[in-house]
Amino acid sequence: MARELRQTDPKVSEAIDHERERQESALGMIASENHVSEAVLEAQGSVLTNKYAEGYPGARYYGGCQHVDEVENLAIERAEELWGAEHVNVQPHSGTQANMGVYFSVLEPGDKILSLSLSHGGHLSHGHAVNFSGQLYDVEQYEVDPETGYVDYDELARHAHEFDPDLVVSGSSAYPREFDFERFESIADEVDAYHLSDIAHITGLVAAGVHANPVPHADFVTGSTHKTIRAGRGGIIMCTEEHADDVDSAVFPGSQGGPLMHNVAGKAVGFGEALEPEFEEYARQVVDNAKTLASVLQDHGLSLVSGGTDKHLLLVDLRESHPELTGKEAEAALDDVGLVINKNTVPGETRSPMVTSGIRIGTPAVTTRGFGEEEMEAVGEVVANVLDDPTDDEVKREASWRVERLCDEFPVYE
Ligand SMILES: *Cc1c(COP(=O)(O)O)cnc(C)c1O
Repeated sequence: MARELRQTDPKVSEAIDHERERQESALGMIASENHVSEAVLEAQGSVLTNKYAEGYPGARYYGGCQHVDEVENLAIERAEELWGAEHVNVQPHSGTQANMGVYFSVLEPGDKILSLSLSHGGHLSHGHAVNFSGQLYDVEQYEVDPETGYVDYDELARHAHEFDPDLVVSGSSAYPREFDFERFESIADEVDAYHLSDIAHITGLVAAGVHANPVPHADFVTGSTHKTIRAGRGGIIMCTEEHADDVDSAVFPGSQGGPLMHNVAGKAVGFGEALEPEFEEYARQVVDNAKTLASVLQDHGLSLVSGGTDKHLLLVDLRESHPELTGKEAEAALDDVGLVINKNTVPGETRSPMVTSGIRIGTPAVTTRGFGEEEMEAVGEVVANVLDDPTDDEVKREASWRVERLCDEFPVYE
């Protein structure tokens, strides 16, 4: 049993080693990614993966759950403290499963959802046609104002009154600004709809108090545990006491079987880390770094959707500064120099989602490495230089060299 993976399965072991090296030697700037601590990795790679624990702490369908109960209770208590929610469910396997849990708790197939469109920053699980949410429910979507890049709340209110949804969703994958959660609450109230706030991307920023918290303004809040909070891959649901039982039964047995207790342990450990005072500093730095990067890119003539950012990500609209360059080409050119980002649609997109006219850049992972203002200025120059000359070998050699030096100076895992 004690033999190491390297001996028992060299192929998988080698692929894992290579991925670790890739993470060390490239700058991960995909806005939804981060690096968890060794402690979270240890919890996720533990014997808890062996344990079946259908049900909830104190009320399981299997024996031998005393220790996993303790782990799940710790995750729940810490989450309640981080976000101030009345009720928390830490079992969703992912953010998508968390949204499914909420929908199943209060909606019937055919009920109406009003959410942000994918091409304007929304998420597949908010009702896209290729996702279960778009297939089960009657979905209409709002968009951002193409001029300002911001949600137009008067237009949202008008749309809500016209459509009369059962559930209104705030939250996004690629919206660089804060949502006005109070306004969402009042619009949802006016049309007698539930308000679900999906804070997948910003769970950590909200927990640290550097972004507004929707918990007092929403019936349900869902989140990811692996984006701006470093608690390992998974999802979480928070809700008012009123919906606690419905949410719990919508997750299990409604849409999942046994919880992934090793991941629940990762959540408990990562939430514990987020309760430490250093986490607030980290989250503040994530936002400061995004703002620094935004201003460097703007100084180089790039335009950003909404003109900047309030949080951990920015969305570069290439159409004005580099009309010939697609998001796909920009992603590939930056990848060549070790800077990993993703192509992204921009409001009013005319190219396909596989090509796009924009790129999304996020700061959570490089901030975990220890990046501050100086490093973000260097990153901004690398991005701007490569986008200006995406096929120039000399420019790319210089950019690769700068990325390599930054990676060496700021290792992820010592
Ligand atoms: C990332 C994200 C999710 C969750 O995604 P999973 O990959 O299913 O964990 C949900 N909603 C939004 C808005 C997201 O950005």
